[in-house]
Amino acid sequence: MKKVITCAFCKGTGKDPFDLLSELSICQVCGGRGKVEVEEPAIKCVFCKGTGVYPHNGRITCTVCSGKGMVTVNKGATEECFECKGTGTTKDSGLPCIRCGGKGVVSKR
Ligand SMILES: [Zn+2]
Ligand SMILES: [Zn+2]
Ligand SMILES: [Zn+2]
Repeated sequence: MKKVITCAFCKGTGKDPFDLLSELSICQVCGGRGKVEVEEPAIKCVFCKGTGVYPHNGRITCTVCSGKGMVTVNKGATEECFECKGTGTTKDSGLPCIRCGGKGVVSKR
């Protein structure tokens, strides 16, 4: 099942929000459509808080959700990841949590 959502990276405008050289430059995430598809079940990306922007470098796309703002999770992934406490972020490095892949949830064992 695929769901169409508004592209988080460009907020649905279809334009690259960070390209200062040309304001007509096309959003790399949605290819200018302003909408992207995610495979369900999908949740809001906790790593970028649904913005689609990489938290520590505001000009590149979030590596967890590829800029979509939502990520596909496994059906059984309902447990909060204890490694990052559901934040999706490794505390010391600021990188996506290795255990949950930055999604903040893991499958029950
Ligand atoms: Zn976009
Ligand atoms: Zn993200
Ligand atoms: Zn985690």
